[in-house]
Amino acid sequence: MTSTGTMYLDHAATTTLRPEALMALEGAMQRANGNASGTHAVARQAKNALEEARERAAAILGAGRPHDIVFTSGGTEADNLAVVGAALASGRDGIVVSAIEHKAVLEPARALSRLGFDIIEVLPDASGVVSAHDVAAVLTEATAVVSVMAANNEIGTLEPVRAIAERARSAAPGVVVHTDAVQAFVGSDLTVGSTGVDLISLSAHKFGGPKGIGLLYVAPGTRLDPILRGGGHEAGRRPGTSNVAGAVAMVAAMEAAAADRERFAMVVGGERDAFETYLIEMVPDVIVNGTGAPRMPHFSHVRFPGRSAETLLILMDQAGLYAAAGSACQSGAVEPSHVLTAMGMTDAEAAECVRFTFGWDTTHGDGRAAAHAVAAILEQAP
Ligand code: PLP
Repeated sequence: MTSTGTMYLDHAATTTLRPEALMALEGAMQRANGNASGTHAVARQAKNALEEARERAAAILGAGRPHDIVFTSGGTEADNLAVVGAALASGRDGIVVSAIEHKAVLEPARALSRLGFDIIEVLPDASGVVSAHDVAAVLTEATAVVSVMAANNEIGTLEPVRAIAERARSAAPGVVVHTDAVQAFVGSDLTVGSTGVDLISLSAHKFGGPKGIGLLYVAPGTRLDPILRGGGHEAGRRPGTSNVAGAVAMVAAMEAAAADRERFAMVVGGERDAFETYLIEMVPDVIVNGTGAPRMPHFSHVRFPGRSAETLLILMDQAGLYAAAGSACQSGAVEPSHVLTAMGMTDAEAAECVRFTFGWDTTHGDGRAAAHAVAAILEQAP
């Protein structure tokens, strides 16, 4: 709860900036504002700050070399670079993704299908978990890339990425394995070793960093065509003047988030659990989705049978409680979430779901207060 009495429960959309990231951002903007590609002293200062950020990012992720880190403009670009860059560099024509990927993975894969690539979308089970066996079963020697997210951005389920990477490699030697870890990094001990993949996407604003900066981890030896053209930045893998302050702030947020994970799981996870316990007590017909699987500690994805999520979100907004639904409003029509329908929900059921996501600044009592606020809104809802 904030000092103004509002409750921000949409940390999966974006997080509040961590003080460490804000300080790093301000410092780098003042002291490392040169163009990191130049050769004079001002440029060198920026270059040094960028390379130090790269080293620290590599260390947190357990990457062997700073060179393995490619800074991007965020998660969307990192995902596009991973899927398209690896597919185009491979000489193969198959791509396998889960059906519950973020659009930043699904859409580039679908765009490649229009260029002749064969795309297979693997369905999850009813809890939102993608099976390593199901992924391996559709791989062939023509598969260039497999992409399965580390944690889903709607229900927060954790995917068995390590098992998927292992099975993929034995089923299709030479395949490049990517994971979109944009939602997972904040709450799970996510490293190169823990995932076992070739490519990892991260986005700073999902773990207390600024928007507009992300990275792609690229394992040594992974072939990757750039998707943008126009310069030799990031070792030829991502042209464009470097966002030095963004990279410095992102790494400050990564370090703060990684150091805070134990507390995050206990305190923030505890508030999420309290939210669900009180909510079930007060609103017995609610259904909490994804509980049959390991979940991120800060996600609560709830279905309110017979209620419109859209209406509830409007009432919550008016009451100062900020949450989200998985449906996307495109040209006036609300489309059901592709994640929820892939899990087997009907369109009508999907339209009854609300996502509440707690964050690093959630404090004791927030879970209970949020449950009371939601129950009160349900009472007055039509
Ligand atoms: N991947 C996942 C799983 C996400 O949740 C998001 C953002 O919502 C993205 C990718 C896109 O990241 P960005 O907002 O940095 O482009």
